[in-house]
Amino acid sequence: MNFVEIIEKKKQGLALDKNEIGFFIKGYTKEEIPDYQVSALLMAIVLKGMNAQETADLTGAMLHSGDVIDLSSIKGIKVDKHSTGGVGDKTSLALLPMVAACGCKCAKMSGRGLGFSGGTLDKLESITGFNVYLKQEDFIKQVNDIGLAIIGQTEKLVPADKKLYALRDVTGTVDCLPLIASSIMSKKLAAGSDTILLDVKYGEGAFMATKEKAAELAKVMIAIGQAHHKNTKAVLSSMHQPLGRAIGNALEVQEAIMTLKGQGPKDFLDLLIHSGAIMLQQALITKDIKTGEAMLYEVINNGEALSKLKLMVEYQGGDVSQIDNPSLLPQAKYVTAVKGIKGYLANIDVLKIAHLVNDLGGGRKTKEDIINPAVGVVLNFKVGDFINNEDLCYIHHDNPLTKSQLADFRAAFETKDQEVEKEPLVHDLI
Ligand code: URA
Repeated sequence: MNFVEIIEKKKQGLALDKNEIGFFIKGYTKEEIPDYQVSALLMAIVLKGMNAQETADLTGAMLHSGDVIDLSSIKGIKVDKHSTGGVGDKTSLALLPMVAACGCKCAKMSGRGLGFSGGTLDKLESITGFNVYLKQEDFIKQVNDIGLAIIGQTEKLVPADKKLYALRDVTGTVDCLPLIASSIMSKKLAAGSDTILLDVKYGEGAFMATKEKAAELAKVMIAIGQAHHKNTKAVLSSMHQPLGRAIGNALEVQEAIMTLKGQGPKDFLDLLIHSGAIMLQQALITKDIKTGEAMLYEVINNGEALSKLKLMVEYQGGDVSQIDNPSLLPQAKYVTAVKGIKGYLANIDVLKIAHLVNDLGGGRKTKEDIINPAVGVVLNFKVGDFINNEDLCYIHHDNPLTKSQLADFRAAFETKDQEVEKEPLVHDLI
């Protein structure tokens, strides 16, 4: 097969067949096709698109470029979830213990954060001693024992995506639905669960700017999941403001714990209940959403969800006393309040907050950076709330803040005299 002919074919807007897509992915993974030719094909895909069959074939070829995890020795239906990423997104930390407490099997592989925030693994590693690198047999045993484990994605999971994503990043080809969808879904499918719930976020702090774009991405990913015979559903949720109130690794762990203790922010709890009820239905534990919601409230109220989190932390070598008493989690040296004025909170600049937290040391700028788990921000108000000269937020930091940092934090909040509508967090189930 000649790769130039494949580029030419896509340039003319024709559909590639399974063999051509397989040749492309195998050749690129084995470094037999150079970056410059793959860049040309990627740009042709951006400009001419891919149909549903091509997108499913691309995902299939990518998923088989490395290890495909075999979870068949775990009894029951294995559920997985994926968020397209957002600021303050600590969903997995609370959601998986909740659904595991209701009987789901969660064998989750997560990633680290690059860019403005830490990923789930970084957040879990704020718990002293927590080990995200389990041997495959220990991972499987833990899920069979307690229904829940969260570990790091192996280097061998979808190597094609690692190479392609790095190339897309520097060739202006990230922003393309079939490429984004195949990248995300190949990793989800390779991780081996039976069901997938996608949380596709939209808004300033998300990958997709609008709800319509998020719905389009969700539909493409669901079609891929279905083509690979996986029960795949999606919720669309707003990232016009951070999720919950805490942003920063240990602060987010603390918020997840408090939510499992029944003391979490309402928007975060709503997302957990909504998503969890869908996962319980996917796992055939419940027949309808209402029953699932009731079960999820129950495992928070009776402490079973919190116990699941504690068990996972114990199995993975973490300090369980930090779950009982979150003030033992890493704490920053200073906490500085940002003063507000009188009025309704109209907007929180999510990206600005995220970049400021990153500058405090809460995220990575390069892969090698070491995250400071203690730093971050806790919001005192959410959009639509009335502020009466109270503090807008609390900055947790280890180095003294500069005047300009403080001014930047202040500028991330916009206040208005008129009442502001509160936007619902979760919009649609697809
Ligand atoms: N996340 C991914 O894993 N891949 C993309 O292409 C975009 C977001």
